Amino acid sequence: MTAVVREISVRAADEARAAGTTLIDVREQVEWDAGHIAGSLFIPRGVLAERIAAAVPDRDTPIVVYCRSGARSAIGTQQLQQLGYTNVVNMAGGILDWAANGLPIEAPATLTPAQQSRYSRHLLIPEVGTNGQAKLLDSKVLIVGAGGLGSPSALYLAAAGVGTLGIVDFDVVEASNLQRQVIHSTERLGHKKVDSARQTIEALNPDVRVITYDEMLLAGNVERLIAGYDVILDGTDTFETRYLLNDAAVIAGIPVVHASVFRFEGQLSTFVPYVGPCYRCLYPTPPPPELAPGCSVAGVLGVVPGIMGLLQANEVLKVVLGIGEPLVGRLLLFDALDGSFSELRLNRDPACPVCSDEAVAARERGAPLPLPVFADQPFALGALGGSMGGAR
Ligand SMILES: [Zn+2]
Repeated sequence: MTAVVREISVRAADEARAAGTTLIDVREQVEWDAGHIAGSLFIPRGVLAERIAAAVPDRDTPIVVYCRSGARSAIGTQQLQQLGYTNVVNMAGGILDWAANGLPIEAPATLTPAQQSRYSRHLLIPEVGTNGQAKLLDSKVLIVGAGGLGSPSALYLAAAGVGTLGIVDFDVVEASNLQRQVIHSTERLGHKKVDSARQTIEALNPDVRVITYDEMLLAGNVERLIAGYDVILDGTDTFETRYLLNDAAVIAGIPVVHASVFRFEGQLSTFVPYVGPCYRCLYPTPPPPELAPGCSVAGVLGVVPGIMGLLQANEVLKVVLGIGEPLVGRLLLFDALDGSFSELRLNRDPACPVCSDEAVAARERGAPLPLPVFADQPFALGALGGSMGGAR
């Protein structure tokens, strides 16, 4: 028995789509990649029967099937009917007629042959693919500090094809940096870190536009420095800078991926403004310097910022791609000596001076931001029970 295949016009399909009906594109991958109807599901006709149950479990779901001209989708429609789908129609004329009627086709993400080759291992991952790689190439990530955390993260973000990398650092490369700041090199001792980082990144991946800021991040320039970035990677080593960065990022609505290191320990969290806690929710006030010595005082095993910096880069990629579970409201702790990771839940502080509802309302009334608090004020480490001071 052959079921009658119901057909609808492309106009009717467009109206159905606007009303929330599921469209299924049954063409082949190359055709889909060349352009498709936004929001439709992609299931090639050859695998329709085996994949439909997972994609559309409810067999009473209204479905419109389309292909190039309407022939393959007629077969697909019939197949779905035979599988018990009760409300399936074929889009007559296919995407050719759709385009001829001036209806929108999602612009395909395109990569050059060189990019297809460079990022081929990304393109093989369904969660990344061409569209994800195009997102990475369009993304703008600001790295604050070209030091122990910034070096490995900058290298891997550049390799991954993050299209714009901003780098803020006012220091020069010193011999004592090279034990962990792997983006620099012996021959660049005495060079500006931002220039050294730029040289390494440009040699690694010409797809990356590097914007350097040879300046210290301060209250007077932070707003300008972070403007326009999608994500900020905090590789700073002072509490003052972290608070400044946090406050400005919360106000600008930009996620910050934070890490810090101390000898054999590291910690990491992703602060998405108003979704999870911010840095001030975690540390309302900074510790006195003797409780939070920087690397130059306390020392750090070189691999620890390397590991934490790469975990930061991982968070950045997840945020840009919109995949996985970023460490929002979670503090990841790493102990290099026993090779262990542990995790603490973090909550938003309802009294946070920056991200609480009250603080937002106060800003809307024109109240000034809290000043960054400095080391003479008391510090509450709370449950963390350790000190994570200098980060580079
Ligand atoms: Zn907060």
